[in-house]
Amino acid sequence: MAKCPICNADVKAKAENKAFPFCSPRCRTVDLGNWLNGSYRVPVEEEISTEALLDDSPPTSRHTIN
Ligand SMILES: [Zn+2]
Repeated sequence: MAKCPICNADVKAKAENKAFPFCSPRCRTVDLGNWLNGSYRVPVEEEISTEALLDDSPPTSRHTIN
């Protein structure tokens, strides 16, 4: 059986555990907090957002078609 990386408790199977691979939603939140406070850096974020804006048509035109 898997162990929770936060509190080392037994982790239930994925089918019956929405917080998988953590033992509980609380531990999942703790892990997410650690991750965000640590090194939350996405070097490609700027590049992607610019490309996406240029590549995609504006939402307003889609509304007009619809
Ligand atoms: Zn846990």
